Amino acid sequence: MQKATRIILTLLLFLLFFVWSEVIRGSNPDGYSLYFFDVGQGDAALIQRGSYQILIDGGPDDSVLTALGRVMPPSDRHIEMVILTHPHADHYNGLIHVASRYKIDRIFMNDMGDESPTYSEFIRRIISQNIAISVPDPSNVLFLPLGATLEFLWPYEAEGAANLNNISIVNRFCYVEKCALLLGDLENDSQQALLASKPNKIRAEIIKIAHHGSRNASNSALLQQVAPLYAVISVGADNRYKHPHPEALAIIEETRSVMWRTDQNGSVEFWISRGQLELIRH
Ligand SMILES: [Zn+2]
Repeated sequence: MQKATRIILTLLLFLLFFVWSEVIRGSNPDGYSLYFFDVGQGDAALIQRGSYQILIDGGPDDSVLTALGRVMPPSDRHIEMVILTHPHADHYNGLIHVASRYKIDRIFMNDMGDESPTYSEFIRRIISQNIAISVPDPSNVLFLPLGATLEFLWPYEAEGAANLNNISIVNRFCYVEKCALLLGDLENDSQQALLASKPNKIRAEIIKIAHHGSRNASNSALLQQVAPLYAVISVGADNRYKHPHPEALAIIEETRSVMWRTDQNGSVEFWISRGQLELIRH
């Protein structure tokens, strides 16, 4: 066989394999995609099944719109649920843009805000678009399509908190025993309190590392209890805070999980189907 023919046949085989794996994925609707978007220095994650979406934080600017446009069905202009983990601009600014393009049914957020004009604009936008606001209780569990669950694990007490990072809404999403723990920007001391209060509720295959991998972002005992296979750090390239911090990285490395950094690796999708978990690079 000529060399050129062999190369063409190999390429065809790769193409066939790619098409076939997409066909299998497309014909297997019993699953959820969990995306962590590269939105620079901030957080934006999406749980999606078909036309059903939950967006957790919106990142620092309108780059979340490009990310959503890439993965949502083209005719879908409706997001069922938004969660704002805490009122910092690198989490809510993008949601102002999201609310201007998409119809949002409900937003979960704490009843504490910051004093900035952009936060006021965010609140005005929610009110003017009649988006239902819910303040979650740390014992809430939402039952999602296919029997998936979204647990609210934190905060216990938002009022009067000196550090808004520590009122971050913490969620655990689970589908058929595969879970993802999303820590918002919860810092070390509050992670310790979360571990003490809910030691049996935090195990997860995927963890969204808190606070962009800052020095105070990773509690070793909590991470050991979570025992993740994948650790995602949502962080901007060359950010002025120098996140992630080497000490946080060292604590994450102790778990021997696969680390995914949005600044170096870009956006990522986890496909969670019955008993399976697959990482897909975007
Ligand atoms: Zn943040």
